[in-house]
Amino acid sequence: MPSTKRCLYCGKSYRPDPRTAEDQKACTRRPCRRERQRRAYQAWAARNRDYDDARRDKIRRWSKNYPDYWKRYRQSHADYRERNRRLTREMVIGIQRKAEFFQES
Ligand SMILES: [Zn+2]
Repeated sequence: MPSTKRCLYCGKSYRPDPRTAEDQKACTRRPCRRERQRRAYQAWAARNRDYDDARRDKIRRWSKNYPDYWKRYRQSHADYRERNRRLTREMVIGIQRKAEFFQES
């Protein structure tokens, strides 16, 4: 077993954890870990499409009975609205940072 491996995401070499060296695909840097997690989730979701479909159908059926639920909820919960705005802003910044990270490496 080599003592260093090349990260699948940033392409830099890293020292894998000896306990998981065989399976480890990514270095420990946050963008690479997040990317690995994202792809693992996508692979899981692709294998378990029924899960998402069933969930979506259930929510659609429910929302037919409560058409303005989220609109009214946002109107009456300023804290929720603000939190949602902040998280959306952070998500956009995160996407930009990630693009920059993978650009330069
Ligand atoms: Zn990496």
